[in-house]
Amino acid sequence: MQTAVPSWMDLTESEAADRAKELGLPGFRGRQVWAWLHRKHAASYEEMTDLPQTLREELQETMPLMLPMSAGVQRSRIDGTVKYLFELPDGCLIESVLMQYQHGFTVCISSQVGCRMGCKFCASTLDGWERDLTPGEMLGQVYAIEREEQIPVSHIVVMGCGEPFDNYDNVLRFLTILHEPKGQNMSYRNMTVSTCGLLEPLKRWTKEAPPVTLAISLHAPNDVIRRTLMPIANRVSMEALLEACRAYVRATNRRITFEYALAEGVNDSRANAEELAERLKGLLCHVNLIPVNPVTERKLKGPEQKRVQAFRKVLEEKHVPVTVRRELGTDIDGACGQLRRRYRLETEVNQ
Ligand code: SAH
Repeated sequence: MQTAVPSWMDLTESEAADRAKELGLPGFRGRQVWAWLHRKHAASYEEMTDLPQTLREELQETMPLMLPMSAGVQRSRIDGTVKYLFELPDGCLIESVLMQYQHGFTVCISSQVGCRMGCKFCASTLDGWERDLTPGEMLGQVYAIEREEQIPVSHIVVMGCGEPFDNYDNVLRFLTILHEPKGQNMSYRNMTVSTCGLLEPLKRWTKEAPPVTLAISLHAPNDVIRRTLMPIANRVSMEALLEACRAYVRATNRRITFEYALAEGVNDSRANAEELAERLKGLLCHVNLIPVNPVTERKLKGPEQKRVQAFRKVLEEKHVPVTVRRELGTDIDGACGQLRRRYRLETEVNQ
């Protein structure tokens, strides 16, 4: 169920002024509400103290804020990673993660409730897709975390539950609003969108996307292996995907990140690394190796560190830039969709 009327959270600043006028208010009222939400991260109209009390009450009726509400938090004692569970006004549950890096605080946001991509190692997809998130619901995750933790969020990655290119317009609008100078004012360079590689949206993105980092979930050196892990590989061949990536690099001159989740005995051999290096030769890219985070319902597991490093070394020798993702939050439900799923199972059991 999608809200029929867009909330203030879904609008740019100038659209908020127009919306106020549609409601019979002066445009500046819209800008005020907008700044309270997008700059100061207010959680209610009551906090908007420069609005007359009667107007606050009126807006509460006509334009309810529809913000995500915190429904649970898990804090890692090892590295400060915090995993949030949010409940949306219609009862849907989504997850976001706050990570601390040297360059600042990064929030990993969800773009959909559930996911329909069906990747074999991913917990987000186990119960299928429920609905797309609105731009405001994506922004709400960032703002709620900044508010609750009292920290400045400088980076976001769209790597939580969902496939961003399956919710293309809303994701693009989310990034645009996050970049607004009078709002969060986040630089596009501090944003990353990760996709499993939907071809048509990728071509569209190449033409119109702002200068955010593009990450592609590759996870295999060839179609045979990729098809065993990712159903999308049955529709989009690696050749077509890599051709679209080359076109993206030509058009934007930006480096692509390829994510490669290493699963023991599936895609982690020396031959797999050699084939991957061969496929990526000449492409402006960077490979991020991620030992698969085991999901209870899935049989895959990450290889030992030694094997991860051996894979990395092959890529390095072949001059493919590579890093191994630092594992964060290993003491909390790490993999995508795990917290949400556990919460739902527990509440179902308790009912
Ligand atoms: N749908 C998008 C973004 C969400 S997933 C995409 O496919 O890119 C974000 C990243 O986490 C993807 O690279 C995904 O493949 C990876 N991922 C999901 N579950 C994982 C797991 N159990 N272990 C390691 N990486 C995982």
